[in-house]
Amino acid sequence: MNPAESPDVIVVGAGLTGSEAAWGLARAGVPTLLVTTSLDTIATLPGDGWGFAPPPQGLLATVAHEAGGPDAWSARGLHRAVKRELEREPALHVLQSTVTGLHCDGAGRVVGVATWEGVARSAPLVALCVGSFLRARLRMGRSVEVAGRLSEFADDDLYEDLVARGRRFQTRRLALPGDALQPGYEVEHQVLAAGEVASDGAVRDLPGLFAYGVCAGAAADLASSARLGVEAARWLASLVGGPSASAAKRPAPASSGPPRDA
Ligand SMILES: Cc1cc2nc3c(=O)[nH]c(=O)nc-3n(C[C@H](O)[C@H](O)[C@H](O)COP(=O)(O)OP(=O)(O)OC[C@H]3O[C@@H](n4cnc5c(N)ncnc54)[C@H](O)[C@@H]3O)c2cc1C
Repeated sequence: MNPAESPDVIVVGAGLTGSEAAWGLARAGVPTLLVTTSLDTIATLPGDGWGFAPPPQGLLATVAHEAGGPDAWSARGLHRAVKRELEREPALHVLQSTVTGLHCDGAGRVVGVATWEGVARSAPLVALCVGSFLRARLRMGRSVEVAGRLSEFADDDLYEDLVARGRRFQTRRLALPGDALQPGYEVEHQVLAAGEVASDGAVRDLPGLFAYGVCAGAAADLASSARLGVEAARWLASLVGGPSASAAKRPAPASSGPPRDA
């Protein structure tokens, strides 16, 4: 079992959803590769502090418990604690890269991802947890940045690849009010449209591909983003059959089951 070379699951995006999903999978013994654009933005919050009760038995609950409660962490402290817990898991490899598209086999099944550097990564299951980063445009005053959050670059390639494969999207906007430290800004981004993602996260017409959290059209709040990651880990672990399951023994992903917010 080598999560870097032959993962059972590739999780794309280390926001709250992807971090919880990848950590939960690794804790279940599933070799997991977590690919995220920058290691410096793992579990980034839009502002400072995270005043919500983390889902039980998840990654955030673990770090909150160690700190004496969720209010004990600043956003920077949360980033450091989450990154440490991810790096500590032997079944999990965290890779800094941007996923630019999918790889499919001759039957149309998703078998891995393309990365910006040109190195292909293979796995029987791929989970997109890319939040507000699909064709994201950040507006602050009159300036426009290609970013999913302030100064966090958002490549358009993955979105364009999904569109080329027939997936439909809808536009969403998220706004962060300004404060004494920074002016407010708005992010316009794409999420998979209604009907594109089944209740278990399976993406329509792309077997092997799942999507969770904001990019799948779920509510954009921190508590549900974390909860959906925890639930995604449980579901995906059940599909691959637990630790060190061989690809040959793996059941085909079902098209119904948990988890998803409407
Ligand atoms: C402007 C703004 C204001 C917000 N205000 C609030 C608020 O007040 N309260 C609240 O509860 N929530 C708020 N939210 C929502 C909150 O940030 C999200 O609900 C939550 O962070 C989403 O978590 P996520 O894991 O789904 O995605 P994200 O946190 O968006 O994480 C996605 C991750 O995927 C990575 N990624 C993206 N594309 C790729 C790729 N192609 N390859 C590799 N990695 C990739 C990104 O780098 C990022 O690390 C706000 C969001 C924004 C953008």
